[in-house]
Amino acid sequence: MHGNGLPHRVDIARLGEGEHSWAGALAGCPLPRMDALDARVGDVSATLTLTIDRGRPRLQGNCSAVVTLVCERCLAPVALDTAGAFDLVVVDRIEEADGYGADQPVVVAPKGQLDIAALIEDELILALPVIPTHDDADCDGGQRQFGPAGEAAPARDNPFQALESLKRDDSGEVH
Ligand SMILES: [Zn+2]
Repeated sequence: MHGNGLPHRVDIARLGEGEHSWAGALAGCPLPRMDALDARVGDVSATLTLTIDRGRPRLQGNCSAVVTLVCERCLAPVALDTAGAFDLVVVDRIEEADGYGADQPVVVAPKGQLDIAALIEDELILALPVIPTHDDADCDGGQRQFGPAGEAAPARDNPFQALESLKRDDSGEVH
């Protein structure tokens, strides 16, 4: 284990062959893409294992945080437990990813500089729901939308029925 907490950045060239692990909180670093989503991110914790085998680095780990977004049904804040897990081959340039096939996810570390903070931010964003909402029971918007069955729309009078009875009154001859 390396020191306390997570590094924001790792220089792979300075690490030797073998396994390197970190665990802890990612503190005090900006998360600009989360900001762009208007997401409020609580404490981010992660565990990382970087394995360098004959010069080829591979990064495995997981991360979690409580991310607060706006519920799309009721527009109130919704706090989401968000967690991601990853197993990535570390490449110097994106072109090198071709050599690993489409099924192998990679992370690019230009000149051996692995941006841990950006990687974890990516993984958390990938783990967010496409449409953030509260659970039905906790959501005002959900209650309004689905309401009790007796108040459903079909209870309204059919305007064409009213028209039909008017016609009958006019003619006076309809049975
Ligand atoms: Zn809601």
